[in-house]
Amino acid sequence: MEFNILSHFKGLEEMPTDPLKADEIGTSLFLTGNMGPRISEKIDEKAKAAGMSRRNFIKSSLGFSAAMLAANEVTGMKFFEVGTAEAADIDAKKEAIKLAQASNNFIVDVHTHVCTRPGHYQLGVNTSERGMWFVQLLDDLGKAFGMVNGTRDMNVENYGKMILKESDTTVGVFNPFGFREDYGGQDMIPIEYQVGVRNNWPDNTIMLAGGLTPNQGVGATLDRLRQYVDDYKISGLKLYTFDSTPQKGWWFDDEKRAYPIWEECRKLGVKNIGCHKGIPFGQFYARYAHVEDFDATADDFLDLNFIAFHSAWPYHNELAALKGFKPQRKNLYCEIGSTFAATVTSRPLECAHVIGTLLRDLGPDYVLWGTDSLLWGNPQWQIEAFRNFQIPDELVEGHGYPKITPEIRRKVFGENAARLWNIDKRRAMTAKAELMATAHA
Ligand SMILES: [Zn+2]
Repeated sequence: MEFNILSHFKGLEEMPTDPLKADEIGTSLFLTGNMGPRISEKIDEKAKAAGMSRRNFIKSSLGFSAAMLAANEVTGMKFFEVGTAEAADIDAKKEAIKLAQASNNFIVDVHTHVCTRPGHYQLGVNTSERGMWFVQLLDDLGKAFGMVNGTRDMNVENYGKMILKESDTTVGVFNPFGFREDYGGQDMIPIEYQVGVRNNWPDNTIMLAGGLTPNQGVGATLDRLRQYVDDYKISGLKLYTFDSTPQKGWWFDDEKRAYPIWEECRKLGVKNIGCHKGIPFGQFYARYAHVEDFDATADDFLDLNFIAFHSAWPYHNELAALKGFKPQRKNLYCEIGSTFAATVTSRPLECAHVIGTLLRDLGPDYVLWGTDSLLWGNPQWQIEAFRNFQIPDELVEGHGYPKITPEIRRKVFGENAARLWNIDKRRAMTAKAELMATAHA
């Protein structure tokens, strides 16, 4: 995620949270979002019903179920399939978690980040003002979610601790931040540093490379790409089409600047190509966050897969049209990192429209789970929210969205990504079980 959520969730930074307790993070987002005051009243009632103080209730896992129920009550629509007992009784809650895990426990988080590098970021030394603005934004987020040192805590070690050990995530796909124009000529997260994630947890992580900026020269860009493959055995790309060069950005369907990259990908066997779309943050231009450049590219490179990260939200309708009107397309995917997180607790109606549109038009086989963690803290609250999330009947009838069935949930959570990246599911699950055993030893 790359926009300032602290301006969307009022007072979030004042709510003390334990970075390992994801429920508390989820509840704090419900309480500080758009419906915060009304949800807060309902939480009081539910704490009383559970016989707990408000403070302890919010800190417990019951609080998160209560917040989801409260959102149903406030909106008058059923966005969350949560039973009343799950907000009142810890055994009922544990039972519900067990049932959910039995139904979907293979989770590939396609959108995860570490947010620091050796030497970190120093204004005027290795970081421009614009680069510092982004570091500050990430810092504030980390602190709001209980990581006291902000980005410095969003490091390789905590990646393992929070995403792989403390959440149900089976495989994390980690994404780069390039932007080297703003970070002293070195990628914000250099590949030499982020490769540490894969080296530590080889069966539970997948590494994407990025930082390709064809406006700095197509030849140099292709050299970088070859180096990623030769030296780091990357599993795909996650790119940004906005940049800090004088041109400000580029398009995937630019035959001079971009097509040579895709041709090289083809030769090198790099099949999965993602791009930040939507969320036109900071000083970048929104025009490069639109997704229509995927149209010609997807047709011209049928053997490559193109993944719109963030599902191009708030331009997700544009993305959906690229498949809705061209159902023959088989190489267009979307990922819901930050889009789901930013909407599910404060604007569930918008969340249901986005997810519904993607499932209806791109199809359940093409929607990928992602959380943009560690930017939203420990991702477990998002996993729990999606396990409970449903598209209300009114929207199914009125818009033709599908209901989220257990099968669709499994596809989105992991099966689709497993197909894309050829993940050995059994091996990943075994490695995950070993990780969990050491986490709780
Ligand atoms: Zn991201």
